[in-house]
This record gives sequence, C-alpha cells and structure tokens, in this order.
Amino acid sequence: VRRPSHAFATRSFSSPTAEDVARLRALAPSTLSTLDGSADESDLEAFNTDWMRKYRGRSAVVVKPRSVQEVSAVMQYCGAHNLPVVPQGGNTGLVGGSVPLGEEVVLSLGSMSRVRSFDPVSGILVADAGLILEAADAYLAERGYIFPLDLGAKGSCHIGGNVATNAGGLRLLRYGSLRGSVVGLEAVLADGTIWNGLKTLRKDNTGFDIKQLFIGSEGTLGVITGIAIQCPRRPAALRVAVFSASSYEAVQQVYADARLMLGETLSAFEVWDAPSYAYVRAHQTSSRRLFETEGEFYCLVEMGGSNPEHDEERLGAFITHLMEEGHVLDGVVAQDETQFAGLWALREGIPAACSAVGAAYKYDLSIPVNEMYAVVEEMRAHLHDGLRDGRIRGVAGFGHMGDGNLHLNVIADEFSDENKRDIEPFVYEIVARRGGSISAEHGLGVMKAPYIGYSQTGVSIDLMRRIKGLFDPKGILNPGKFVL
Ligand code: FAD
Repeated sequence: VRRPSHAFATRSFSSPTAEDVARLRALAPSTLSTLDGSADESDLEAFNTDWMRKYRGRSAVVVKPRSVQEVSAVMQYCGAHNLPVVPQGGNTGLVGGSVPLGEEVVLSLGSMSRVRSFDPVSGILVADAGLILEAADAYLAERGYIFPLDLGAKGSCHIGGNVATNAGGLRLLRYGSLRGSVVGLEAVLADGTIWNGLKTLRKDNTGFDIKQLFIGSEGTLGVITGIAIQCPRRPAALRVAVFSASSYEAVQQVYADARLMLGETLSAFEVWDAPSYAYVRAHQTSSRRLFETEGEFYCLVEMGGSNPEHDEERLGAFITHLMEEGHVLDGVVAQDETQFAGLWALREGIPAACSAVGAAYKYDLSIPVNEMYAVVEEMRAHLHDGLRDGRIRGVAGFGHMGDGNLHLNVIADEFSDENKRDIEPFVYEIVARRGGSISAEHGLGVMKAPYIGYSQTGVSIDLMRRIKGLFDPKGILNPGKFVL
C-alpha cells in the first residue's frame, strides 16, 4: 500500500519503496538508494543539497540512466506510480531548482556525457545532455570552435542543465542567448514518450518551435537528453584587461567606449564593486595586489578577433584612450595564458567568495544598465539596521554589465526567516519598480517561483500553467518549482 507522503500545492505523490527501487534498478542499473542499502545518506548528500547549501531534500533514490531509452523507461515507471522526479544536471543552479524539496526521485544525467557528432563545416555539435560544459568546450577547442556559452560553474554544470535554465553567462554579449544557438533538442516527457527534435537545421519554420518551450523550463516539462547546438569559430586569440574605476558612471563610460572602439571583437564586459573585490581577494589567498590605485568599481573587458596583431593595436588604442580621458584609475592586461586565467578567475571566483563570507542570498536581476548599481545602493540603505548589528555582513554587486544583468549578493550570518523577510519581497519590488526582471538568467526554481508575478502578467502565468498541464498532467516533473 502506498502512503501519500508529500504534497506540493494541491497535489500529493507517493513515496518510493524498496520495491520501486528494485524495479528502477532493473530499468537503470546504476540506481542508488538508501531503501535497499545500496547507498547510505552520505552517498546521496551531494544530490540532496544545492551548491549554496541553502536547500536540502530528503530523496532516498538517485537514478543515473545511461541512455535516452533508460530515461524513458524510468519516466514511464515514475509516471505510472505517481513518483515525482527532479531532473538534475551538475547541481550548480542558484535557485534551488535542482534538488528535491521532499522525497522526489533524483534523475541525474551525469552518466550521459557523450559527444554524438560534430560537423566541422556547419559547427553544429550534437551531444548528450550530461556533457560537462568545460568538456564540451575543450572538445570544440581542439577543432577550432568554441561553445557559445561560458560561466563560472563550467567545470561542473552540464550542457543539458545550461539549456534547461537558459543560462546566459559571460559571453552572451557576443554569442547571444542559447535560444538562438540551440538548433535541436531531444527530451523525454513525463509519461516516458521520447520527443525527438534533435534537428541540425538553422532554419525550420514548420509550426510551433517546441524546443523553445524546453529551453529555460527548469526540468518541469521534460528531461532533456540530447542537444544540437550551433558553435562559432574560436577567436584566434582572446585578450583580457581589468580596470579599476572611481564610480559606476565611469564604468558605464568604459563600456560605451569598449562598444565603440572594440566593436564586434568585444566578447565580454563584466563589472564588480569594491566589496566583491575584497571578498574574492580574501578568498583566493594566492591572488596578489593588482592595482596601484584601487577603485570603487572594477570592470573586465575581453576581446578577440581573427587577427591577433590587429586586436593588439585596437586594445592598445582603447587603453590609451581610457587613461587619457581619465575614465579608469588603473588597469592590468593579461600577457599570457596564466594571467588571462588569473584575471578571469577573479571575476569567476566572486560567487564562491561571497558564499565563503556567510549565508549569501543571491539575486540575479535584469535592470536597465544605467540603473544597475542603484539597486545595490537601495538594498544597502534598506538593510542599514542589519548591517549595523552584524546580522547582515555585507551587500555586494557584480555581473554581466553588457547584458544589464546584476548579481546582487546579500550576505547574512545565516539563512533564516528573519533575514529573508528583511530582503524579500523588497528586492523584487525595487526591480519591478525599475522595469526589470527578477530573474535574468538563473531561472525561478523554488526560490523565485512565488514571485513570478513581479515579472510576468497574469495571462502569461496562466498560459504557462496550461502548458505545464499539457506536458505533465500529473505534475510529477520537478513539483513545487517554477510555476506553482
Ligand atoms: P542543475 O543545477 O543541475 O539544474 C538546474 C535546473 O535545470 C533544475 O531545475 C533542474 O531540474 C534542471 N535540469 C538540469 N538538467 C536538466 C535536464 N537534462 N533536463 C531537464 N531539466 C534539467 N548561470 C548563468 O546563467 N550565468 C552565469 O554566469 C552563472 N554563473 C554561475 C557561477 C557559479 C559559480 C555557479 C555555482 C553557478 C552559476 N550559474 C550561472 C548558475 C548555474 O551554473 C546555471 O544555472 C547552470 O546552467 C546550471 O546547470 P547544471 O547542469 O548545474 O543544472
């Protein structure tokens, strides 16, 4: 007899039993579970806890299918037995979408990591969803191509997770959104049906573009198992420079000049404030002092064209201009690959550095570029009392400035209801007031699902609910997340 164990909104689901585990193992042999002693709680810890250590589930079953057929069989079984499922990639998501809320079965894509094909003429890569982003990029680098997405979690996140969250990252400025570069997908629906949309065509105007529904659906419409993606040629050489600046206005000027003077070779423009810089320097104990004159703000500019000598000249003229005009206080240009990686590590290390300071509440917001930093200042003023009594340890702002994407981190002494109440929904109110989005690129997950109304109309939310109902009538895919 199944006991209805946990309910999400109005639905209730079954809890997996030892018999379910035996059946699931027959379908996907590397299934792990505490219910039959094949794993203990510590083995499942990494699947139950998110990257921030903010959300924790109680799943007793992790299935690790090795093929789309195994995913299909697992979903068919779970659908028929009312067992909810959380698709999980690299578990680097920052909104609690990738871990169970209760006893859901975790479906980990980690064992599906093959490159299926690569066409060196079109640049289209077809690969399993569980391929790690960095591995995909390394494969492409050997062939003179680049994956059109890069982000700090590249060593762990999966390309399937990237597509499921419609990740933006560090080079969206140059290569655009995954909505443009993903040309085909393969997914397994909640009832086990395999949807084969793994086309390698750039153009296809035959009806609704169903793959777009899966992109950014955070595991609520289906399990993405395969991806076809258009990859650009790798620039001949990438150059990177980091500047210190006295104000956010000065950084905006640097950005405007970079667009003008570096043109199509500009591939990333990142910004961070003095607190972010202090945290990352403290966290990366090996990082040395970079600037004679430090600033209130820092920006990273990356460029790469097809002619390294020409790029060099262009970058040189840009830096001279910035210094002569007094837009920057100081600057460092990477001279070799190690320095290139070191400068990027500074920016990419900020999320982890904030989490090392305390319980980091992370907000990923879209704001008109000229108002981006005003949100950080408004939040700091709002948290004045908490900052004074030490409950709030700091407020830091950094992000993908070229995309108007701010990562606001409020670092508290602990994750508590009181701290959360101090920040939310105030943070969403200021974003809505400024015409921004409460989620630029991380998605909604469990963290932002209740707040979707700050960025979407009632009609849009209703349509989303109806689409969810069509794809997953029993609501077993990632319940309690995304659209409630
Ligand atoms: P997971 O965290 O495992 O899952 C994320 C969501 O996708 C969950 O809802 C899950 O159910 C679903 N999902 C995962 N795989 C599948 C699948 N195969 N089929 C269906 N659903 C699936 N994000 C950005 O956009 N830009 C950044 O610059 C960025 N920088 C980051 C830096 C750091 C240090 C960290 C820790 C995270 C960063 N992120 C960033 C967030 C995160 O890395 C991305 O959201 C990433 O795309 C998640 O991929 P993942 O494989 O880890 O997915």
